[in-house]
Amino acid sequence: MISRTYNRIAFALFLLTVILQPGCHSNPTQEPDPAPGVPQTLATQRAQTISNLRYELSFEIPAGVSDPVQGKAVIRFARTDNAHPLVLDFTPGPDSIIDVKANGTPSQFKAVNQHIIIPGAELTAGENTVAIAFKAGDASLNRNPDFMYTLFVPARAHLAFPCFDQPDLKARFTLNLKVPEDWTAVANGAETSTGVYAKTQPIPTYLFAFAAGKFQVETAERNGRTMRMFHRETDAEKVQRNRDAVFDLHAQALAWLEKYTGIPYPFGKFDFVLIPSFQFGGMEHPGAIFYNAASILMEKSATENQMLNRASTIAHESSHMWFGDLVTMRWFNDVWMKEVFANFIAAKIVNPAFPGVNHELRFLVSNYPAAYGVDRTQGTHPIRQELDNLDDAGSLYGAIIYQKAPIVMRQLEKILGAEKLQEGLQVYLKQFQFGNATWLDLVHLLDERTDLDLAAWSRAWVEEAGRPSVETEVQGQRVAFIQKDPRWIQQIDVVVGTANATRSVALNLEKERTEIQTEAPPQFVLPTGGGLAYGDFTLDSASRTYLLQHLPDLKDPLTRGAAWVTLWEELLDRRVEPQDFLDLALRALPQETTEQNVQLILGYSDTAFWNFLPDTERNQLAPKLEETLRSQLARAASSTLKSTYFSTFRSIVTTPEGVAFLERVWRRQEKILGLMLSEPDEAAMALELAVRGVPSAAAILEEQRGRFMNPDRKARFEFVMPALSGDEATRDKFFASLSDVKNRRREPWAAEGLAYLNHPLRRPQSEKYVRPALDLLREIQRTGDIFFPTNWMYATLGGHNSNAVAETVKGFLAEQKDYPVRLRRIILQSADELYRLAW
Ligand SMILES: [Zn+2]
Repeated sequence: MISRTYNRIAFALFLLTVILQPGCHSNPTQEPDPAPGVPQTLATQRAQTISNLRYELSFEIPAGVSDPVQGKAVIRFARTDNAHPLVLDFTPGPDSIIDVKANGTPSQFKAVNQHIIIPGAELTAGENTVAIAFKAGDASLNRNPDFMYTLFVPARAHLAFPCFDQPDLKARFTLNLKVPEDWTAVANGAETSTGVYAKTQPIPTYLFAFAAGKFQVETAERNGRTMRMFHRETDAEKVQRNRDAVFDLHAQALAWLEKYTGIPYPFGKFDFVLIPSFQFGGMEHPGAIFYNAASILMEKSATENQMLNRASTIAHESSHMWFGDLVTMRWFNDVWMKEVFANFIAAKIVNPAFPGVNHELRFLVSNYPAAYGVDRTQGTHPIRQELDNLDDAGSLYGAIIYQKAPIVMRQLEKILGAEKLQEGLQVYLKQFQFGNATWLDLVHLLDERTDLDLAAWSRAWVEEAGRPSVETEVQGQRVAFIQKDPRWIQQIDVVVGTANATRSVALNLEKERTEIQTEAPPQFVLPTGGGLAYGDFTLDSASRTYLLQHLPDLKDPLTRGAAWVTLWEELLDRRVEPQDFLDLALRALPQETTEQNVQLILGYSDTAFWNFLPDTERNQLAPKLEETLRSQLARAASSTLKSTYFSTFRSIVTTPEGVAFLERVWRRQEKILGLMLSEPDEAAMALELAVRGVPSAAAILEEQRGRFMNPDRKARFEFVMPALSGDEATRDKFFASLSDVKNRRREPWAAEGLAYLNHPLRRPQSEKYVRPALDLLREIQRTGDIFFPTNWMYATLGGHNSNAVAETVKGFLAEQKDYPVRLRRIILQSADELYRLAW
């Protein structure tokens, strides 16, 4: 997970520093001040000279959100360097520094560029203590009226307190917290007496965490380990319904990991905190994992996919205890590594718990479409990227790390064999435990275990961007796969259908041309059919035509899923017409028995319907699509499948009859047999009705607001409401309000409002928001968490499909000469479909 430092604020503080400079002594012959953020050069120099690091931190947290948090940091360390000044990171700047002592003596420190610089002469080569009293910065403290929580990944600890904010200076933390009397708190270490938290194992600053506030606590014991769940859910029945499963999932994950790694859970106590509207799905703080509450406490109407996602999220964060927490990347350019292992291992853990699920298919649908969604665009990037300053670390995260890297890792396991990989990982975890390592350290350990040149393989798949292009050529019974750049070695399973049988053929793509001979002339050849192949595949035209007719008849659900993914890519490359794709979807849905495929088809259909059809064709198709969804909704056997159909129906409904049905359901005048609708479902219905401009839209929003039992959900709804107003001036005002950082603080709320403003039904009135939204992006990046720039751009562009908007984006990028490369990528990623739509 991630986020970003506040450069705008930093600059203002920089100006202040020039004027104030408390306790400053300036010496023109000294080395230049370090740049803001955490430059790699500074981090390297510190890692070489500082060791045995310990923080003793105290925070006093007042109930009033706007009252300052007072803090004290006693930082102990050994230092081998006394020639240079000591540089600490602390963004709040000179006004927030109350007192600095070096080895007991008041320091002649300097506060500049988000750093506290202590003269080398005040320190010794050996043990040192620096004690700093300060006013904590609020930027990474997520303060709310009833609760607060820290979120310091990747380098946001120094927005709150002075520290060495880099992953390879691991430290032991002890913590003292003073919180309002009716609050409770949780941190990495166990609470040994009121407000005192035990010393941690060595952990980096980005994993140090605490949360405090009005939380309920559930306790359970599993496998001899006590676990606690902190939450703010007001629905007691919902907590009861979920709690055992949530504890079980954690216990299973930990037991599995201990066995796989051969290393017991390394961090002592085990708690987790469910936070409303948390920025990420979860964050792996050792001893105190934070989760987004909604992804852990399931509604009764939860889909199978949501349950799987929950299990995966829990397994993902649990895996991080070893991969990321016990062994940490040296620098954030290797952050993908901990993410890929967490995902890769999570899949292994979750699979046995869901024996009814087709896991190969799940891997396909949860990784390939999302990875392609970035890797096919002009904004793609390699898995392993350069990173000069941790200020930019946030922009490393995305589908290439979370979805492409697992695909590449699965290839690695295929190449090495599962046992060799496990063996290599065990050695790696043991060798670097409580320390740091790079990807190349691991490649080196694994390279010893294979004949393949792993370094060369790693260069193509890990250090380069994009996908291999593979074309199928069929002549009689000879099938050839042509790959222009054969460095992208991969093992794939090709599915070939003939009149007699459908077969899977294992194949190594390692040459420009790879040929197979079939038993009879093929009806179709699907190189992705076994769910392994990754790339930009061009089908031969006979196979394309065959699949557009007969895809639903394919027996293997995995092959069907792979065919859908491949046809969607063909649609984006304009080799398949959107109308043909949607016709196929309408024929396929009544036959499709696998929920994951239903979801895949519905997701593609939703996008094709809103963005790829001209208005007239969309209006023509609407009655048929709604009829199909409603009849499937009635027929679906499971409540999860019903829920899947209903949420798509809610999203695409446009006919008067369909909208009237939705309104009756929202008014509780009509029930859908076998489907329980929860508070978030009703809220979503109210918003969808409002954006369709039903006559009673305003009254529906008001009534919905009154229905809420949960105050957090109610607050979010109230925030989003103006974006749904029928009055354009109100919507304009909502959009304008987002230019104030205060109104974007709850980022998922802001993104939801922005997406409704730019809903396809509002296109004519919302094109005007696109340019100002682009203009804001740099500030969004400076002031927001890591995923926010991406979410901001998708919320802005996702509903648009006009040439005019595509030109606006292109014009913006052409104008911006020195635009940050990573933000440019985000724009190019989110504009990809828009560009392709300008046929
Ligand atoms: Zn993760």
